Amino acid sequence: MVFGHLPAGYIASKLLVKKFEHRTPFYKAFMFWGMLGSIAPDLDLFYYYTIDNHQNPHHSYLSHFPLFWLTLLFLSFFWLWLSNNHNQNPTYAFIFAINGLIHMSLDTFTGEIFWLAPFLSTPFSFISTDLEYNSWGLNYFTHWAFLLELFIIWWAGFLRFRKS
Ligand SMILES: [Zn+2]
Repeated sequence: MVFGHLPAGYIASKLLVKKFEHRTPFYKAFMFWGMLGSIAPDLDLFYYYTIDNHQNPHHSYLSHFPLFWLTLLFLSFFWLWLSNNHNQNPTYAFIFAINGLIHMSLDTFTGEIFWLAPFLSTPFSFISTDLEYNSWGLNYFTHWAFLLELFIIWWAGFLRFRKS
């Protein structure tokens, strides 16, 4: 997925910030860490285009291993559990990690993700072709997975601009 990650991060952060009212995280910091988490896995593209020189698909990097993000999420749970309610930092770690995990799920709609890596190198995808690599361009925008992306963008816009 390309365009849906940041709006998805916005949606998840906006919906989850209410769960932490007792810790009163700073809204802007919470949104910042959440949206950063939603695009953080794709920062590996810099490595892909520069150092790795296109040799391995960027989904085969640690930053696209769901178990890596799941580990971060568990660590943030521990931090939340161990820390007192005056500490907002664990809430930022939590929203960062959960958005990274959401990124993994969304990428599974448009390409292959190694859900059990590094233990098993079996790729998994909800679609039959890898939209991110094999059929970029028109195919990407005419594939049903793009409707999901449009819906995410619409939802984020709805949450941002609705009158409440
Ligand atoms: Zn990605």
